[in-house]
Amino acid sequence: EAGAAVARPIRKSAKLADVCYDIRGPVLVRAKQMEDEGHKIIKLNIGNLAAFGFDSPEEIQMDMIRNLPNAAGYSDSKGIFAARKAVMHYTQEKNIKGVTIEDIYIGNGVSELIVMAMNALLDVGDEVLVPAPDYPLWTAAVSLSGGKPVHYLCDESKGWLPDMEDMRAKLTPRTRAIVIINPNNPTGAVYPDETLKDIIAFAREHDLILYADEVYDKVLYEGVKHTSVAALSEDVLTIIFNGLSKNYRSCGYRAGWMVVCGDKRRAADYIEGLNMLASMRLCANVPGQYAIQTALGGYQSIDDLVAEGGRMRRQRDLAWELITKIPGVTCVKPDATLYMFPRLDPKLYPIEDDQAFIAELLEEERVLLVQGSGFNWPQPDHFRLVFLPHEDELRDAISRLARFLGNYRKR
Ligand code: PLP
Repeated sequence: EAGAAVARPIRKSAKLADVCYDIRGPVLVRAKQMEDEGHKIIKLNIGNLAAFGFDSPEEIQMDMIRNLPNAAGYSDSKGIFAARKAVMHYTQEKNIKGVTIEDIYIGNGVSELIVMAMNALLDVGDEVLVPAPDYPLWTAAVSLSGGKPVHYLCDESKGWLPDMEDMRAKLTPRTRAIVIINPNNPTGAVYPDETLKDIIAFAREHDLILYADEVYDKVLYEGVKHTSVAALSEDVLTIIFNGLSKNYRSCGYRAGWMVVCGDKRRAADYIEGLNMLASMRLCANVPGQYAIQTALGGYQSIDDLVAEGGRMRRQRDLAWELITKIPGVTCVKPDATLYMFPRLDPKLYPIEDDQAFIAELLEEERVLLVQGSGFNWPQPDHFRLVFLPHEDELRDAISRLARFLGNYRKR
């Protein structure tokens, strides 16, 4: 009788070699292990609003529950009519011209649609301009799709706006598209119209598709206005991404959308690819789709949270004040989102490996952050802080961080 085959290690596919998503990387694994051992960890690492008592609006919850009996079947691959119609109205409110129901795709969160949009576009070696720092799913999705992410810098000294010169310098004959994240995760920057117009002109000149992740477009502080880049041109093919996760504190419902805007005639073949991928996964989670119309048409309760005196605004102000009091820590104050991206002066903090630095902070102080390199920032001198915990917990977390940094300076 033949002997049993030698058990070979089972390896992941080669296409995952360059794919990386450090927000849920090795340091988080260690944090979970510490929790299992009974330690309390203060988590400033993930933008999961509901986990911090930012409840999803009750009318959204009730509407989903009411619609559950109607939501047991597959829907159209692009999504239920009512949700897409509501998104269409939303694009009209944002002054985006020429969007029809057919241009709208509902997905299991924006995440699924980002991967779909990249998969439908990229051949091996095609390049996509992605911001540094970025929300790392964009970089990962380009790599997973066989493309090459090429990072253009955002300029901290200019409020983290994209550095147009760097963007130009990174262009090659293989560049197919450019990604912007506005409002930005992790920096909290919101781009003025002039910046958006410069990016549109660049895309037009070099025949690039523009992808705009606008998932935080209602999490805005101090009267800051958000313009969708798709409202500023009618010709450049622009795909915008948005959803319920952040603006409606419903990330677990997995309801997002993408809208194909601009001159679609040239893109018929690409759109066929998008339709194919949407069909292959049958449809997005249907109960989540039922929440979209209610959310978009209902009372915009996020406004109370970001207004003066609102919980999110108070926490942002407190976190920013405390963090910038620590010697050698500077930070552009975020105009939007749940995040800030502080800088550690390398003279005081000569960090070589920022993941090791964050891991040490976790071991010593039980505070969890994400290192800047997790957002494809090229130097080990930044980290992202999520200001979702209540003020008391934020005070506690930042004073622990200050103590850790104080010890670090004495080394
Ligand atoms: N885009 C950005 C910029 C994000 O920060 C996130 C989540 O944190 C996502 C997309 C993913 O959103 P969704 O829950 O819709 O998949």
